[in-house]
Amino acid sequence: MQQAVIAIHGGAGTITREAMDPAREREYTEALQRVLQAGQRILADGGTALDAVTEAVRLLEECPLFNAGKGAVLTHAGTYELDAAVMDGATRDAGAVACVTRLRNPVLAARAVLDHSEHVLFAGAGAEEFAAAQGLELVAQDYYFTQARHEQWQRARGTAGMALLDHDAAALAARKNPAVPADPIDPDSKFGTVGAVACDSRGNLAAATSTGGVTNKRVGRVGDTPVIGAGCYADDLVAVSATGTGEMFIRTVAAHDVSAQMRYAGLPLEESARRVVMEKLVAIEGRGGLIAVDRAGNVTLPFNTEGMYRGFARVGEAVNVSIYG
Ligand code: ASP
Repeated sequence: MQQAVIAIHGGAGTITREAMDPAREREYTEALQRVLQAGQRILADGGTALDAVTEAVRLLEECPLFNAGKGAVLTHAGTYELDAAVMDGATRDAGAVACVTRLRNPVLAARAVLDHSEHVLFAGAGAEEFAAAQGLELVAQDYYFTQARHEQWQRARGTAGMALLDHDAAALAARKNPAVPADPIDPDSKFGTVGAVACDSRGNLAAATSTGGVTNKRVGRVGDTPVIGAGCYADDLVAVSATGTGEMFIRTVAAHDVSAQMRYAGLPLEESARRVVMEKLVAIEGRGGLIAVDRAGNVTLPFNTEGMYRGFARVGEAVNVSIYG
């Protein structure tokens, strides 16, 4: 039996300490701690890595602070389109949904695809029909609404003709209007996707990732999150969940590359993840970070931005949460 561990992320980005509000920072820290404790309990009770990451991401989707589920960012058309994926390293089973607009918890739909379908990735209306047939909750688009994201979107839409990562938009909003609450991680970028990776007491690994995507994205745009191997991946060596500029994570096949370098080049976890985040992504101007755990329970949480909401918890030990670099 090995000591089980779970790690989570809630987005990466630039930090403006001046704009930081201690109360808001506390909110994020406490939210991350609660989610880690829930994952830790599942693992302590002998639960699987797959169950722990699914539940951790579901809880992050329920929390309006993060850009996934409730609190998701808006498309250029002012609508919500969500993506999620989950992968079981023990079996290499995977499930994902893309461009869903009515699912309360996209990660549960991804899990249902993994558990109950011969397919891996469902998109749009078909994904929703499949999830509904599995008994999952459908919601109206209003469910995802938060005032803060709506204001970000209005500013992003008015001033920039392009898609903005979650907190690029928040930064823009805060600069234009000091009344808009700034995020502790903020100015030029923050990626609000959420994710979890875990290694259970049997040494099995799993990863899950969920997102609303990027603010002001074009309708129909799909990022790295539901693309197995890009924003989410797990096998017998490592489990990885990413956050950042999705197009670059797809082009570098970022999550799978962490595993590939370990397997083919014999690199240890930390060095493999460092090369992906600090070299390969940077080479094509990819910004963001990832969290990864290997089968020995080693954890690494690299990012090439100034901060990333992140944390990890080993069974029987205190929870660790950090925001800044
Ligand atoms: N990676 C996500 C996407 O491109 C965005 C994020 O991490 O916030 O959809």
